[in-house]
Amino acid sequence: MTDCLFCKMCNGEIEPDVVYQDDDVLAFRDVNPQAPTHVLIIPKTHISTINDLTPEHEALIGKLYLAAKQVASDEGLAERGYRVVMNCNAEAGQSVFHIHLHMLGGRAMQWPPG
Ligand code: AMP
Repeated sequence: MTDCLFCKMCNGEIEPDVVYQDDDVLAFRDVNPQAPTHVLIIPKTHISTINDLTPEHEALIGKLYLAAKQVASDEGLAERGYRVVMNCNAEAGQSVFHIHLHMLGGRAMQWPPG
């Protein structure tokens, strides 16, 4: 999508602080980090929300989690622990409508989240 911020990162119009990428997935540091490590992991294809997922996206969603695991390991968080979360629509706090996992770590997390 031409007016999607995260699509612009995938096509090179905007250059985020990339920590991982492959053919299908891009991972970059959040511009407003909520933890010492806060990385966003996105598919390179546009999907607006979780509600738009179909069975054909099954493998792609798995790749997002495998990328989160890789980034956590690279950041030295695998044993300490980290949180992976995806917001869907307004009440969950989604503000960019191109699905993304938040990978947060480097501090103790609270539960339930606010
Ligand atoms: P959400 O509110 O779940 O949709 O998450 C969107 C995330 O994108 C927020 O944590 C923002 O801080 C982050 N964000 C917005 N613009 C940028 C940007 N240009 N580079 C990196 N992260 C961004």
